[in-house]
Amino acid sequence: MEETEPKIAAAGAVDEGRLWGRLMALGQIGATPKGGVNRQALSKEDAEARRRMVAWAQDLGLAASGDDAGNLFLRLEGTDPAAAPVLTGSHLDSQPTGGKFDGAYGVLAGLEALEAIQAAGLRPQRSIEVVAWTNEEGSRFQPGAMGSAVFAGQMNLAEQLAVTDSDGITAGEALRDFLAATPDLSRRPIGFPLAAYVEAHIEQGPRLEATGRPIGVVGGIQGLRWFAVEVLGEAAHAGTTPVSMRKDALMAAAAMVTALNEAMADAADTVRFTVGRFEVSPGSPNTVPARVFFTIDFRHPDAAVIERLTSRIEPICADHAGGCAVKVTRTSDVRPTRFDPAVIDTVRRSADALDLPAMEMISGAGHDAMHLAEVCPAGMIFVPCEGGVSHNEAENARPRDLADGARVLAATLIDLAGADLAG
Ligand SMILES: [Zn+2]
Repeated sequence: MEETEPKIAAAGAVDEGRLWGRLMALGQIGATPKGGVNRQALSKEDAEARRRMVAWAQDLGLAASGDDAGNLFLRLEGTDPAAAPVLTGSHLDSQPTGGKFDGAYGVLAGLEALEAIQAAGLRPQRSIEVVAWTNEEGSRFQPGAMGSAVFAGQMNLAEQLAVTDSDGITAGEALRDFLAATPDLSRRPIGFPLAAYVEAHIEQGPRLEATGRPIGVVGGIQGLRWFAVEVLGEAAHAGTTPVSMRKDALMAAAAMVTALNEAMADAADTVRFTVGRFEVSPGSPNTVPARVFFTIDFRHPDAAVIERLTSRIEPICADHAGGCAVKVTRTSDVRPTRFDPAVIDTVRRSADALDLPAMEMISGAGHDAMHLAEVCPAGMIFVPCEGGVSHNEAENARPRDLADGARVLAATLIDLAGADLAG
């Protein structure tokens, strides 16, 4: 009789009902009346979710540990315990009016993959660990993706812990209470060597659902730049000042936005260009506007395109200033992430081996994986969500799609960790 390949055996042991049941159970922690969750970072609901994860891990015989940044790790020991582990996971915190799947799915898909690997009678060579990163959302304490950034040496923990929420509570105070909720957890140093990192996540966009494909093979995360544009004209009487003599900040700003929108348009519809704030002052019906302030958010997966488009912003604004003064200030810059070709290929081959239609895509949203990509080979697996809706209490996904994502994850983890059939 031919032996089933280990990765196929692991994927075959993924249990759709078990994964869905845990997602629904976790969704009860911080549940909102509209079916979503409010489980903000380092809150008592977040701590409760963490305790639940530790309890599930203990049921499976996994070793739970945590670091001083509040990151939680659940370890399935490999046959070579000294080798750097393969890590998978996501986050348990949510937006104030968030959904049951954003983040929680990646953590629970990881747990499901480990349970499936055990159920298939496999022992990975490298240890495989599931992580729940602290404060990915950044809604209570800014910025987000704090736990993964600190782990990867991209942010300083002490600086992050000084940040306060809207009630004046520091992240450090909240973290102390959070860690006290699991007093017996063994402590890990922040940051340790990893063989690879793979994160499963709902797409948070409409493309997989629209194309009927259950698996997104994520090649990277697009970069982002923010600008603030201030246009200074001159206030004047709307009834007496001839148009030719005005310095109308609004007309200039409107021309700038129109020209920028044209310059940013691309045939492939890849550039994301948004003017989300537009303030006019003094804001009087019979006064020519003296000042306009507007913001630019634009995103693209290719750093060279981001540079090229950035270089056009100031000249376009100057060309349409119409006698006004204009000042452009860059306020944010997140470079694009390119995931590791070998990890991307492993995800693609796992989907192929399981006969699951897959699609290559770039993530529009930021994820913890962007920080992990700085320290180890990293990648992501996307699954469809209903209508592409996320950061919303109505966020939903199909049990079947979620299980398919966990199958691809289990196969990918086995490929990356190596495995023997337990004797
Ligand atoms: Zn997320």
